Amino acid sequence: MTISRVAIIGLGLLGGSIGLAIKARGLDIATTGYDRDPAVRAKAAERGLVGQVYGTAAEAVTDADLVILCVPVGAMGAAAHELALGLAPHAIISDVGSSKEAVAEALAAALPGACIIPAHPVAGTEQSGPEAGFATLFSGRWCIITPPDGVDPAALAALSDFWTQLGSKVELMDAAHHDLVLAVTSHIPHLIAYTIVGTASDLEDVTQSEVIKYSAGGFRDFTRIAASDPVMWRDVFLTNKGAVLEMLGRFSEDLTALQRAIRSGDGDTLFDLFTRTRAIRRQVIEQGQDDERPDFGRGHGE
Ligand code: NAP
Repeated sequence: MTISRVAIIGLGLLGGSIGLAIKARGLDIATTGYDRDPAVRAKAAERGLVGQVYGTAAEAVTDADLVILCVPVGAMGAAAHELALGLAPHAIISDVGSSKEAVAEALAAALPGACIIPAHPVAGTEQSGPEAGFATLFSGRWCIITPPDGVDPAALAALSDFWTQLGSKVELMDAAHHDLVLAVTSHIPHLIAYTIVGTASDLEDVTQSEVIKYSAGGFRDFTRIAASDPVMWRDVFLTNKGAVLEMLGRFSEDLTALQRAIRSGDGDTLFDLFTRTRAIRRQVIEQGQDDERPDFGRGHGE
């Protein structure tokens, strides 16, 4: 099965980056796109995010071999409904949503009988919209594909090959397991960042200007994550409720243990944990998932 025409629904950070990556890598793939916002469609056409921007989803997906939904996870079902009329019978339907079980259910309900293979490129930034996309977003990053039972092996191979051509490393995973893994590596860290930044802004004894002035002490690294798109993250928590609440339970227990260690002056517990976490940071760098330069390579004015 050859993918020679890709339709991208949702032309923000993820959708735009897919279109730009196809172009920058010189792949022999025609791209079309649609976004519900006319201003986004205009910007997408101006930046050349896809070859042709259409005014309806059904027109954009006509003759596409692969349709990729790049909308917030809460909008996947509605977006799939909208494009159904234009879909070619052989088309593969995929997505980039950050939670997978709920998206698989929404797509299956909207497009019964279609070849649906959900996926999640684990690559992104805190920015969103049609100006945020860039061609190298997926280079060297993982793309997790969560094929449903009974998937067509040729379609799965074609989708895996597509993401490999965009520079990603592909991993296959069960959707429920994906949701648990991502709850701990992505969703809980975002919730913690949202909490810390929210708590700091509500403090009475420390002024907001002090929080911002001294943010280099650690706070500013949380503000990057907490600046992420509110719609996207609202939807992630609402669609990955089970796994997030399970991991949050574990996190709360560990936080209580640390609280106890601090109160009772148990330095060994603190030291042992901080030693283990430092080793994890080393592994993240060794596996090419982050920059090894201190302080994320910030310039410090030199
Ligand atoms: P984004 O930059 O906000 O782009 C999403 C676009 O989809 C917006 O222009 C939005 O328009 C449009 N849209 C919403 N509903 C639509 C519909 N029914 N039909 C057509 N267009 C529609 O978001 P993003 O960061 O690219 O995220 C897209 C998906 O990627 C999400 O599912 C997210 O979970 C996943 N993801 C994100 C990241 C990340 O770091 N950002 C990483 C991996 C995966 P409006 O603004 O009018 O709603």
